[in-house]
Amino acid sequence: MNNFAFQTAASAKQATGAFRDDKQAAYLAGGTTLLDLMKLYVVQPSQLIDINSLPYKGITETPDGLRIGAMERMNDVGENPLVLQQYPAVSEALLLAASPQLRNMASIGGNLLQRTRCGYFRDTSFPCNKRVPGSGCPAINGENRNHAILGTSEQCIATYPGDLAVALIALDAVLHLESAKGKSRRVPLLDFYLTPGSTPQRETTLEPGELITAVTVPAAAHARKSKYLKVRDRASYAFALVSAAVGLDVQGGIIRSARVALGSVGTKPWRAQAAEQLLVGKAPTEENFRAAAALAVQGAKPQKHNAFKVELAQNTLVRALQEVAG
Ligand code: SF4
Repeated sequence: MNNFAFQTAASAKQATGAFRDDKQAAYLAGGTTLLDLMKLYVVQPSQLIDINSLPYKGITETPDGLRIGAMERMNDVGENPLVLQQYPAVSEALLLAASPQLRNMASIGGNLLQRTRCGYFRDTSFPCNKRVPGSGCPAINGENRNHAILGTSEQCIATYPGDLAVALIALDAVLHLESAKGKSRRVPLLDFYLTPGSTPQRETTLEPGELITAVTVPAAAHARKSKYLKVRDRASYAFALVSAAVGLDVQGGIIRSARVALGSVGTKPWRAQAAEQLLVGKAPTEENFRAAAALAVQGAKPQKHNAFKVELAQNTLVRALQEVAG
């Protein structure tokens, strides 16, 4: 790990001011991704600005739904009774992630900004367009079992690896941001993540120095009846091979609203709105779930080692829908 300067910010103004003075700085919350990548020399910030004292806390019910402060820890949010009862997919996504030690340390804001697990990205002896733009993508002709089948480009096929963002995108979450100039803005999480295109180094619409302050999730019948299903190589402490976040509002045997997102198949958390539209107004039958699942993976472009994800994603989605409809 390279040497770096360190300072603790007592306010957002101090944090963003420190970033304005040093564009090579990085904000430090839980540090569970950042320190890993620093040890691997994948990222080398000149300075860490500790933002753990910022008042972005609280898990509260608002007139519109749920508000989670960005500095809340993953485990606290996953075990919160309001989240457990009213937004079960969010709770499940959090509690199925990482290990208890990591969940106690990692912040919500940091989790939403986690980087890909592509082995070539994390090993600086390989070229990688995401790490060094224009250097190449060895994953395309190399080991790509864990890579994406949706949203890929000729520049990058890395999967977005997280769980929480998949559940939040399914439930129409909104990010609250504060800029280095002190301006606040809100961005639907659906519009926050970017596909790689020709600029795989740019993963989100977060501006330099901008802070995530909170995430809000609208209250809805499909949020109360939601689920996050994660399929992985081993039962714990593993990233998903595929995952599905779903929510259904079924009344009188008819689906009134549906939410569908897939994880670990896309270069970003993958919302499947065409699948949702197919389900609305239909009966919650396996036949309709299978048709929705086929739509959810439409346009998939498997690589040499990950074609299995096309079928696995559909089966996972159908099972998740059956469980919430049951
Ligand atoms: Fe880098 Fe993306 Fe290629 Fe992985 S898939 S080596 S992150 S460019």
